[in-house]
Amino acid sequence: MADVVVVGGGLAGISAALRLADEGARVTLLEARTRLGGMASSFRRGELSVDNGQHVFLRCCSAYRGFLQRIGGTAQTVLQPHLDIRVLRPDGRSARLRRTPGLPAPSHLTMTLATYPLLSPLDRLRAVRGALALRMLDPDDSTLDMHTLGDYLRRHGQTTATVDALWAVLAVATLNIDPDDASLALAAKVFRTGVLDRADAGDVGYADAPLGELHSTLAQRALAAAGVMVCLRHHVESVGQDGRVSVRHGQDRHVVQARDVVLAVPPRVAFAVAPELAGTDVAGARDLQTSPIVNVHVIYDRRVTDLDFAAGVDSPVQWFFDRTSTSGLTSSRPGAQYLAVTVSAAVDLIDVPAPRIIERFVPELARLLPGARDAEVLDAFVTRERHATFRQAAGTAALRPGTESGLNGVWLAGSWTATGWPDTMEGAVRSGIRAADAALRVASQRDVSRCSA
Ligand SMILES: Cc1cc2nc3c(=O)[nH]c(=O)nc-3n(C[C@H](O)[C@H](O)[C@H](O)COP(=O)(O)OP(=O)(O)OC[C@H]3O[C@@H](n4cnc5c(N)ncnc54)[C@H](O)[C@@H]3O)c2cc1C
Repeated sequence: MADVVVVGGGLAGISAALRLADEGARVTLLEARTRLGGMASSFRRGELSVDNGQHVFLRCCSAYRGFLQRIGGTAQTVLQPHLDIRVLRPDGRSARLRRTPGLPAPSHLTMTLATYPLLSPLDRLRAVRGALALRMLDPDDSTLDMHTLGDYLRRHGQTTATVDALWAVLAVATLNIDPDDASLALAAKVFRTGVLDRADAGDVGYADAPLGELHSTLAQRALAAAGVMVCLRHHVESVGQDGRVSVRHGQDRHVVQARDVVLAVPPRVAFAVAPELAGTDVAGARDLQTSPIVNVHVIYDRRVTDLDFAAGVDSPVQWFFDRTSTSGLTSSRPGAQYLAVTVSAAVDLIDVPAPRIIERFVPELARLLPGARDAEVLDAFVTRERHATFRQAAGTAALRPGTESGLNGVWLAGSWTATGWPDTMEGAVRSGIRAADAALRVASQRDVSRCSA
């Protein structure tokens, strides 16, 4: 019998399993897919390693960075020394959102906002005012979640221009929802913790290898070294309060018995495998909706840009990242370039057929990148994640449960639980560690009461 069964091998489940094993628990991790990493993973397409979607972290993501350290993956990531984001417009104008090195927060952004060329001089002043207003918000103030970011920005003098050319560039990417619907509480977390409170908080990081190399290969190695039994292709069908976990593996069905179970799966799966959750205090989480992300992958016969990544304004291209070397294209097709375009809050795109998406985005990239205008597109394809994150709208804080499920010995983890963070890799790692700590705490209390009985 395992001490703990962790269901789900995304970042939350991996983090929970590592924490539990590091504290001496016997852990089995059950993952339905053929790989670990969940929503942050990769797959093969011919000779290329393709990420299911571009993932970014910030210097302030201490738990995720600790996770990278724990699995030995830090060297396979890039972290900017100073926040520096290129912002491009189809009319050829561009800007840099960057901090001034050496200046403390919030002065670190004064220069970039006061000179931001995509806004009129008056709107730049408005933008500074908006930043100061966001800095006044307390992300822990529960009343904020009843309001939207869009409303708040307008009430503090922000125009459509400042929202589109500045606030939405960061908010849509981090919250995966339009600012007019986004929870002000989560936006406050993003802007305060992520950008405004500490000068270096918003320095941008991303994987310099396929995500699968980090979140599957290295994670699996770390789990094995910690003594965790990892079972891939093991689809959990039900979880009982008595610690009985029913699993399907191919045609076989069997039961794994555990003292505790950490359910590190999306809410719709958690309620399906443990229907008793509907009768507990966490029942509200069934009402969490999801929000999609679409990536458009374009491979050119030549280099079309020297930028590692950039954001777009007045363009459906929200962000693009150069994935040439990380995907393996450099060796399979020297001289070619692979750009991955990210479209968050992609409600209008999620059901559009791939050829139509490609027809639209290839010319849009060429409008942003003059170098792409004469380049030949060797390949283009689309990846979609319909349930990329929960829909981080106003009013959702009350639906996010803590780690206690209300069922004996069953703990909840996942980026959708109440981490205080948006649905991110950072939130996922935090939730896993928290669930493990809760399970360990209760187990040690049980042991104490058994000894004293
Ligand atoms: C395209 C895209 C882009 C993103 N961009 C960013 C970004 O830039 N920065 C950022 O921080 N975050 C980003 N995110 C969000 C981030 O990926 C998630 O917040 C995080 O990975 C969620 O981890 P998790 O472990 O909570 O859940 P998941 O990753 O959903 O893990 C759940 C796991 O459970 C498994 N599972 C499900 N059902 C069962 C079952 N019945 N039995 C066994 N196993 C099961 C699944 O296969 C999965 O592996 C992005 C997400 C997507 C999809």
